[in-house]
Amino acid sequence: MKKLILIGAAAAALLATSGCANMEALGSDQQIVTSANQSCRQYDAKSTITHRYDDRMRVIRQGLPQQVGGQVLNYAVYQTNDMNAWAMPNGCVRVYSALLDRLNNDEVRAVLGHEIGHVALRHSVQQYRTNNGLAIAMNAGSAIGSLVGIGGAGSDLLQQAAYSAITAQYSQRLETEADNYSVDLLLKEPDGRKKALAMASALKKITTEGEGSSMLQKMFGDHPDTRERIRNVEERVKAATGK
Ligand SMILES: [Zn+2]
Repeated sequence: MKKLILIGAAAAALLATSGCANMEALGSDQQIVTSANQSCRQYDAKSTITHRYDDRMRVIRQGLPQQVGGQVLNYAVYQTNDMNAWAMPNGCVRVYSALLDRLNNDEVRAVLGHEIGHVALRHSVQQYRTNNGLAIAMNAGSAIGSLVGIGGAGSDLLQQAAYSAITAQYSQRLETEADNYSVDLLLKEPDGRKKALAMASALKKITTEGEGSSMLQKMFGDHPDTRERIRNVEERVKAATGK
């Protein structure tokens, strides 16, 4: 507990003194992409990549952006019972097989649009910088660290940066922005209303069928938040289509 309070204090001090002007110092875009390349390779190495869904993924991805922010999106499916999907700032998009087993193509597509949204809107870059900021604060504060025996905690926090990208520990605001990105993208397609509403039905399925999965609880937070996201999606579709 003491450790967490100190980390919090170090982060607060860093944020108070650095502000947004120095955010670049917490990691250039190139450094962030290099770090994401490494994290993505590590996750691939310890996961089971399946090609069972390749044909379906090709159909699902048709018409979605192939690159965002100068990064070409590359996909793989992990064989796992967790219902999850995530994207890193280097364009590494990973989908878990349980998600493909339980959602229909339109719903998976909406989830992919959401993940692409996090990359396009640079949410993960912001998150990397925040976590890097924490790590830098920890290293700079090694005197504090040594007092409580947590010297060198910086590298752990960098690993946590990758972990938190994967568990999608974004704020409700960023989740809603990513939902909106997906909805707006899908509304432009033929039969857009149906495709955009798949974002809402994907959220409903994930929260009801995924109950008990700790990964999902982290991904979607508590239920009132998810209900609010579903309502937001439905209202956004209604505002755009009039029904
Ligand atoms: Zn998200």
